[in-house]
Amino acid sequence: MTVKMRSIAVVAFMMGAALTACGAEPMAARQADPATSDSRSGAGGAFSAVVADAKDDVNQELTKLLKEEKTLEEVAQGFNDLLKLPEGDYVLATEECGQANAFWSPDDKKITICYELLTDAVAKAEENFSTEQEKDDYVTGVLLDTLFHELGHALISIYDLPTVGKEDDAVDQLSAIYMIEIGEAGQNYALQAAQSYFIAAGDSDRDSLPFYDEHSMDEQRAYNYACLVYGSDPEKFADLVGETDDSYLPQARAERCPEEWAKVSAAWNKLLEPHLRSS
Ligand SMILES: [Zn+2]
Repeated sequence: MTVKMRSIAVVAFMMGAALTACGAEPMAARQADPATSDSRSGAGGAFSAVVADAKDDVNQELTKLLKEEKTLEEVAQGFNDLLKLPEGDYVLATEECGQANAFWSPDDKKITICYELLTDAVAKAEENFSTEQEKDDYVTGVLLDTLFHELGHALISIYDLPTVGKEDDAVDQLSAIYMIEIGEAGQNYALQAAQSYFIAAGDSDRDSLPFYDEHSMDEQRAYNYACLVYGSDPEKFADLVGETDDSYLPQARAERCPEEWAKVSAAWNKLLEPHLRSS
């Protein structure tokens, strides 16, 4: 359980860093001034955290960790600090679902992260990486990516934001932007998200790819994340460009990535700006 414990402790911290970079009040300032959070109660809606009980032994350990670390509460508070939410009760929940997945449900105003997604990420980390640091970074990257991806679906639904093209591509972009905005650590987490899609692509049968799916193919999603990381700082990430295992972003895509980064980050900023508490 060591990977899970460290990653879970880090997720709330990194989520706070990302949301602060994107306009939320820094968590430290809020904690230093309890009046600030009091003054917000009753003003619009708010996310609350629900760590649901589980039957499976491993999932029970996860619920214990999540409750001890207060990860979900911290993340929910981070959302509340960032957003002007319309009146209503919004839920951020972890649950046993019977599948490794995550969902936004507009009817219930609820983001659900399945425990199975966490345990699947840990298993993939064990299979694909050797050092504890690499495993931790991978699991943290997958968790952050999942949270920001589902937050993206929630934001589109709550604010009735226009999306052209696939919604799932748009919320992948938002997830990449939020992670990249953290800085060095977040750029690495966004690359871990890319890795997770390369790993998923490697596990899938290429003859039966779901071309009808609302998501882009796993490999396309991987290149999209890598492109935004590279595009955010082409000099720093020059080593990503090439056709080897370590340099996996082909030049043909890479040359357009700085413009892609500028466009998608400007688009998301423009769409979200009216809904941020900082605006
Ligand atoms: Zn989605």
